[in-house]
Amino acid sequence: MDNKTKAIDTPFRHADAYGSLSMPVYHTCAFEFDTAQQMSEVFSGRVLEPDYSRTMNPTVTYFEDKVTAITGAQTTIAFNSGMAAISNTLLATASSGQNIITSRHLFGNTYALLSKSFARLGIEARFVDLTDIEATAKSIDDNTACIYLEIVTNPQLEVADLKALSTLAHSHNIPLIADSTILPFTEFSGKALGIDIEVVSSTKYLSGGATSLGGLSIHYGSFPDITKTMMTEMLFNFGAYMTPHAAYMQSIGLETLHARYKVQSSNALTIATSLAQNTHVLKVGYLGLSSNQYHTLAREQFGPTAGAMVTFDLDSQEQCFRFIDNLRLIRRATNLFDNRSLAIHPYSTIFVNFSPEEKAKMDVLPTTIRLSIGLEDPTDILADIEQALEKI
Ligand SMILES: *Cc1c(COP(=O)(O)O)cnc(C)c1O
Repeated sequence: MDNKTKAIDTPFRHADAYGSLSMPVYHTCAFEFDTAQQMSEVFSGRVLEPDYSRTMNPTVTYFEDKVTAITGAQTTIAFNSGMAAISNTLLATASSGQNIITSRHLFGNTYALLSKSFARLGIEARFVDLTDIEATAKSIDDNTACIYLEIVTNPQLEVADLKALSTLAHSHNIPLIADSTILPFTEFSGKALGIDIEVVSSTKYLSGGATSLGGLSIHYGSFPDITKTMMTEMLFNFGAYMTPHAAYMQSIGLETLHARYKVQSSNALTIATSLAQNTHVLKVGYLGLSSNQYHTLAREQFGPTAGAMVTFDLDSQEQCFRFIDNLRLIRRATNLFDNRSLAIHPYSTIFVNFSPEEKAKMDVLPTTIRLSIGLEDPTDILADIEQALEKI
């Protein structure tokens, strides 16, 4: 069955009493049992049924089942934000005294999680160039817990060779864990690329209209101990499971993802192509442009569409601010892959709490603007960009 169909027609685990077409929102904390024996079976984990919504809820399970069907995963666990999915997955993987191999090209909060929060717990982050397989291999030792990366980094748009990293990780018996927020898992097979666990901020493409925060930890079954720790330890003890209302909205968002993604990617390509020809613009970052250094590798790994994130560089931070201040249609906001187009200056916002030296190491530049291209007519988006560029 095609992913578009699975996004809509994945069956419920139990028939709905009223024949509801969409999965109802089970807004309840606890579930009742007929007998003490049944209750004990569920609490012991021998029977998988919900007892308490901190660890299982039918609306969330349905959302997880859709993601599992689409990705071909073995288990999907939904969290109440992308950061919750990332922190819980990595905490289930690495213990004090171990290290995580990763890159400096990371989402701002993930970088801070690894460099600050995990450092306090005695988990070391080793920042290497993951596009250099030899350098990555040298950084691995007996205490390495995993290799962690973003399949397309935000905002640098770097793409590493996932199969090579997967082979390397597996030769050390450690998992390759990848954040696939920037290109949706409906478009490519993380499993075929050798990813063991995918983490996703479902706040972005899945929720669509930016209705709700959410995160996913998608397990392909190759590291069952981690999966088990997450199901039996993380959900219970850390308590960051997705809420039923968010799962309801994101499940509906997932149904239309394919259609939205197609239009947003096509709009983004139009905008990136036009920006590349604009004399005010020094540089454009978009994987769909054949001039992009990662264009071929991205196509091989993720298919022909390149998503809705576009970056471009102007002369100075002052020019970037003037551009943003003069926008009339595109919204001045963080977030990605909303139905509406958004603009942000990552250097002074998402990365504002890092020192200039740290930002230089992360390749986060004061001259870069990040756009998330929405579903508006591309002519209107372009007209807004062009009039704002005239005023810089
Ligand atoms: C937004 C984002 C996150 C964090 O997700 P939240 O849902 O905001 O917690 C993690 N990784 C990437 C690549 C993101 O863009």
